[in-house]
Order: sequence, then structure tokens, then C-alpha cells
Amino acid sequence: MADTIFDKIIRREIPADIVYEDDELLAFRDVNPQAPVHVLFIPKKPIATLNDATAEDAALLGRLLLAAAGYARREGFADQGYRTVLNCNEYGGQTVFHLHLHLLGGRQMHWPPG
Ligand code: IMP
Repeated sequence: MADTIFDKIIRREIPADIVYEDDELLAFRDVNPQAPVHVLFIPKKPIATLNDATAEDAALLGRLLLAAAGYARREGFADQGYRTVLNCNEYGGQTVFHLHLHLLGGRQMHWPPG
């Protein structure tokens, strides 16, 4: 998999506003926030897109979701609600090819998305 800006953030080669880290995951604020809260949750393992995840990654993907929910709970906006988004490839609007989960909160979301 090609090196991405998120791999550089994992290796601390470029700065990021990191809000969560454990052995397998990292979370940091999006540089171009689309909501009052906009945090990206990424596996440290380099998986380019959701299409590249395998059954071996099932627990990792589950932990990614639970880390986002845990962050929302700790920050006090879980009950108010939030949105998680995982863009895949061109039609999904993916621009960074290191799998990431967007956590968006702090405002009313709308449907359908653009
Ligand atoms: P995607 O469109 O789902 O691939 O989302 C990529 C996200 O990464 C976008 O929301 C960008 O604003 C965000 N982003 C790109 N570079 C950086 C960075 O260096 N730090 C934090 N967020 C970034």
C-alpha cells in the first residue's frame, strides 16, 4: 500500500491534533472540519480502503467503531447523537487511501448526504 499522509501522522512525521491512541488505533481532528466535532479514527495497520479489509480485520474494524462511540460518550455528546462515515474509493468520496472513520458531531446532520 502506498504511504499516505495518515501514515506520516502515525509515525509523528507531521503534526496532528491527536485525541485518542491505543496499540492499534489513532484518532485526530480533521484539518478541514465539517462539524463542530470532526475526528478521524484510523487503524495503525495500513488498510487502503474498506475493500481491502479481510475477515482477519473484523475485530479491528469493530474496535474502530467502538473507539468512536467511546470518544463521543467521554466528550458528552453521545446521547445527543453523531454520525460516523467511512468513504470508499471514488464514488464514496475517499481522498486519503488509508482506511478511516469520520466521527461528526455537535450539530444536526441531514439525509441524504451529498
Ligand atoms: P476522505 O475524503 O474520506 O478520504 O477523508 C479524508 C479526510 O482527511 C478529509 O476530511 C481531510 O480534511 C482530512 N485530512 C487530510 N489531510 C489531513 C491531515 O493532515 N490532518 C488531518 N486531517 C486531514
